Amino acid sequence: MKISLLALVMAGSISFAVAGNTNPHPEKCGVIENTKRKMQENPNLERLMQNDEQRLQQLIEQNQNSRISNTIYTIPVVVHIVWKTGSQNITDAQILSQIAVLNEDFGHMNADTASIPVSWRSISGPSNFQFCLAQRDPNGNSTTGIERRQTTATSFNTNDNVKYYTTGGMDAWDTRTYFNIWVCNLSGGIIGYAEFPTSQSSDTYGVVIQYDSFGRVGTVSYPYNKGRTASHEIGHCFNLKHIWGDDGSSCTGSDNVADTPNQGAETYGCLTYPATDNCNTSANGIMFMNYMDYSDDRCLYMFTEGQNTRMNTAMTAWYSDLLAASTLACEAPVGIQGAPDDFQFSIYPNPSDGYLTLDMTGTRELGNSIDLSVIDALGKTVLQQRIENPVGSVHPIDLHKFNSGIYFINLSNSEFKKTVRISLFN
Ligand SMILES: [Zn+2]
Repeated sequence: MKISLLALVMAGSISFAVAGNTNPHPEKCGVIENTKRKMQENPNLERLMQNDEQRLQQLIEQNQNSRISNTIYTIPVVVHIVWKTGSQNITDAQILSQIAVLNEDFGHMNADTASIPVSWRSISGPSNFQFCLAQRDPNGNSTTGIERRQTTATSFNTNDNVKYYTTGGMDAWDTRTYFNIWVCNLSGGIIGYAEFPTSQSSDTYGVVIQYDSFGRVGTVSYPYNKGRTASHEIGHCFNLKHIWGDDGSSCTGSDNVADTPNQGAETYGCLTYPATDNCNTSANGIMFMNYMDYSDDRCLYMFTEGQNTRMNTAMTAWYSDLLAASTLACEAPVGIQGAPDDFQFSIYPNPSDGYLTLDMTGTRELGNSIDLSVIDALGKTVLQQRIENPVGSVHPIDLHKFNSGIYFINLSNSEFKKTVRISLFN
């Protein structure tokens, strides 16, 4: 099937969303609504996406006899939490659980790969992508990769207001070098939307996820409580379409991926394999457990190799800067920033069993206080302290209760900032 989704969109020959769907659930993904809006606002977008699709198919065809690259790209992520009520201001732990889900799902390391039907095991596998919370912001300063803002907006929709500070949201970090995730309260039953990639970078590129469908701990709400909404939406951002081809319930639409079976409409709930539909009465039936379907989170657990190839081909062609960004943004800044000569200090021993000493006996011109924070390898701040009258002092840092691993100690005040990487073995 080679019928382009976008041609169908613009021809108005199909109706999206719930057409032909007798299920009472609301449409859960807003990617088509968002794409139609952007096409209306930008008359050149349709042609751009059609040309991109054509070029992409050529690239995939040229490479079809060679295996997909084994290169793994770790993509730096910034999560913007835009909240109004306290429950929307989800915890760092909930955010970290989502990053873990993404690395499992895109790495084919999720426990439920065991549920993949035997007939599809040979065409399922890992993508080329992993994710980290950014540890350096666009200015090179240390960051947790998490930003928060309390907004007055009760909810957001697919008009991208959440992506701008002036409309109640938070501005994107450079979308060419950071992958932006906004978490907020979405209206209208939508629990996520994404922007498809194109060969021209976009300032709004990224995904928006409903706060109680993000991650797999904390406020997550059944049946979208295992972090698969973000796996689905990031699939769109990496150029995957819905597995049923967005053609209502007819059998003509395609996701432009060769190894996904034909499917009528989206799936809700959790079917039992094998499940057939009006477009697919074969023995294996439809692939309702594919991340690009609408099944409940507990029933989504695979990408196909064809999808992995499509994602990798698009992203290496159009977002090469993002794929290369991990060498900087996934690593905490190490060494000296600011005024180096005025702040001579040492932290020892390193490696350490957790009982460290910050020795500032050689410092001068340091102000009245400095802030110390300790960040773990996932970008989570695990300890924060303020040190008064630091000049000439020796200060203990007690990390002996933390797990073994790499940590970063940031020391800063309004005048300077320094980061030291330490190793703990407990
Ligand atoms: Zn979708």
